[in-house]
This record gives sequence, C-alpha cells and structure tokens, in this order.
Amino acid sequence: MKIIRDIDTKRLAVKLKPSAEKMVKRGHPWIFEDSIIKQNIDGEPGDLVIIYDHKKNNFIACGLYDPFSPIRIKLIQFGKSAQINEEWFVSKIKEAYHIRKPLLETDTNSYRLLFGENDHMPGFIADVYDNVLVIKLYSHIWFPYLNWMVTHLIAITSCTVVVLRLSRLLQSKGEVYGVSDGKVVYGTLENEVVIFREHGVLFSANVIKGHKTGYFLDHRHNRKRVGELAHMKTVLDVFSYAGGFSVHALHGGAKEVISLDISKHALQMATENAELNNFKGKHTIMVADAFEGLQDLINKGLQFDIVVIDPPSFAKRESEIAKAKKGYSRLAKLGAQLVSPNGILVLASCSSRVIADEFFMISEESILETGRSFEILEKTYHDIDHPITFPEGAYLKCGYYRVQ
Ligand code: SAH
Repeated sequence: MKIIRDIDTKRLAVKLKPSAEKMVKRGHPWIFEDSIIKQNIDGEPGDLVIIYDHKKNNFIACGLYDPFSPIRIKLIQFGKSAQINEEWFVSKIKEAYHIRKPLLETDTNSYRLLFGENDHMPGFIADVYDNVLVIKLYSHIWFPYLNWMVTHLIAITSCTVVVLRLSRLLQSKGEVYGVSDGKVVYGTLENEVVIFREHGVLFSANVIKGHKTGYFLDHRHNRKRVGELAHMKTVLDVFSYAGGFSVHALHGGAKEVISLDISKHALQMATENAELNNFKGKHTIMVADAFEGLQDLINKGLQFDIVVIDPPSFAKRESEIAKAKKGYSRLAKLGAQLVSPNGILVLASCSSRVIADEFFMISEESILETGRSFEILEKTYHDIDHPITFPEGAYLKCGYYRVQ
C-alpha cells in the first residue's frame, strides 16, 4: 500500500555518554541529544541508528533518528541486533495484537493496538474503533515506514478505513509528505463519528476532530467497574468528558447520574453517548469548573453514592508537579465531602510525573483531613491494551475508597 512516496533512510552509528548507555542497557527507549558523544554522519527523520558500546564497540540497541525532538533517538530494539525490515515491523505488530487478545474476547471492539514506546513503536499510536483504525503520529521518524505499517495494521485488524492524525509538533515542523491531520488514507469514512462498543456499552468518537484519536480508551476497565457498582445508585462523574464513566453507570442501572465538565461540547457528547444505550435512570449535565462546581454541590448539601473524579493531566511539565499535587489534594477533599455514608469515592490521575504511590498517598491523606475514614476497595493501573515497558510510560492510576 502506498500512502506516501517512498523515503530512503540511512544508517548511523552512535556512541553515548556512560550514564545514557546504562539506561539503554536497561531497556530505556529514549536518548536525549546531549547524551550523544559520537555520531558518524548527520541524520534525517527515521534514519536507523545503531548504538555501540563506547568501550567494547558491540551492538547495544538500535532506534530511529528524530532531528525535531530533544529525544533525538527513539529506540526500538535492545540487546540483540536485528534486521529492521518489513518483517521486523510485522512481528512487533503481531506481538502487540497478541497482548490485546483477551480484551477482544470481551464485548469490546475498541482498543489501542499500538501504544508507542510500550509496544516498541515510539511515538506511534494505533487505536481501533469498530472498523476504523486511527493512527496518531507524534514523530517524523515514522514516515519512512508508514506504508508498511498501514498495510500490516489493516491485515491484522481487518479495519476497512484508516484515518491519520498528526500531533501539533508534527504539523508545525518538517515535511509531512502530502498528508495532513485527519486525512482518510484508506477506505471511505461514511461518518466522522464512529460508534463502537466497550464491554457491551455503546460510545461514539469523532475520529477526525476529537482529542487524541477521538476518545480515551485507557479507563475502560475502571468504567466497567463503576458500571458494576452503580446499580440503583446516584453517581457524580467529575471531568466527565464524553461520559465514559457516566454512560457505564447508566447502563449499569444507576438511578441518577450527573456528568460535570467545563466543556459544553464534551457534555453534548456525553448526552449523545448515553442516548446510544438503553437506560432507565436520569442523566443530568452540569457545565462548570470542577473545583467551583463541587463546592456548589457541597454548599447545597448534596451527596452521592459514587463520586468519580478523573481530571486531565495536571503536570505536563516538571515545574507543574507541586501545583498538580495540590490540585489532587483539593479534589480528594471536595470529593470526600460529597460521598454519602458508605459510598464510594473513585480518584484517578493520568499525570505520569506524579507516580502512583504518591498520588494514592495524597488522596488518602486528603480524605482523612475532611474527618472521614475510608477503606481501600481497589487500586488499578493500566488496562491491558496500554502495557507499560518503561517508567515514563506509566501514567494511569485509580483508587476506589469506601468512605465511612
Ligand atoms: N473521565 C473522562 C476523561 C476526562 S478528560 C473519561 O472517562 O473519558 C478531562 C476532561 O476534563 C475534559 O473533558 C475537559 O473538558 C475537562 N476539564 C478540564 N479542566 C476542567 C475544569 N477545571 N473543570 C471541569 N472540567 C475540566
């Protein structure tokens, strides 16, 4: 398949500072530009880089060259040298598919097939929504391999449509070979809003204009869990976006669900997603800033059997970590005050810079500060289609607390 013209690549030889070399030997996939001490020739996006041991001169890893990123080399193969050819890409796609197989045996036809670095494909995301494959590229390194990738991703998923999404960085720098964000590169997309199933619950995603690839697949397991807990319950879903938790709760038989988000458009999607399913409960939307909205609900004396708080990433940069922790603490305190006696507070974080143990500690101390005690019901991390193979890959954590 030819999505873009063929692009030739070169082979580079590189040696690293000892500290960086140590990380690579441990399987870390990133090499920053200032870690390179020797490089034989200039590189272009996607050129194959072989990393040699600075003393013994033997192969330690290979990766792809990215002149547009401070992470100059993104590693794809460690320890043992391999021919990086079409078969190599096929084998990695098959490995990734194999990991997701148990999920595909459930009533689910939406999944992340490739999760970047964690599937040996740095900066390459492939999400499937029913028959539509959405590829999101975060790096120029993929253009030389895109024709192969699309061909084999179609073969393994049986998707009939492929949409290409490009990160902002990709759109702002360098050649993109005639493609653009949201381009349908294979098949015909009848409707940019694609309907799909997640554990038997229907959702829709705008695969052309939606955030990332159109939907957040990562919380699938937690949404199912909230759905199971929600029978005959009242539920508050804070930072609801397109209603992931809300719709599972309604489907699970919740009496009443409030979806709260600052974005009217997100809440419109939540309403539409709910309507794709059969449910008897009442669904209300609340357009508000979460911190203000939660305080208003507290002031009104309201309480809910289940409160879910799943904010966006608060710490995209190192400098934002302290503020992020304060944000999590405030949310846990607000949430704890809104849970009815013996109700459940579900607190999630998707900031990779705030590690799981720290997030749970902040959440738990903050609940206690409101004068309420709790029992930990469950702590969850990534669903199986978001495997983790390096520390920075881990971002999602979610605690379930029964609040007395
Ligand atoms: N829980 C969702 C995903 C949340 S994404 C799911 O399961 O799919 C984060 C959401 O937070 C976005 O919809 C965004 O509009 C919303 N948001 C960001 N800042 C906010 C704020 N201050 N108050 C309320 N919502 C906010």
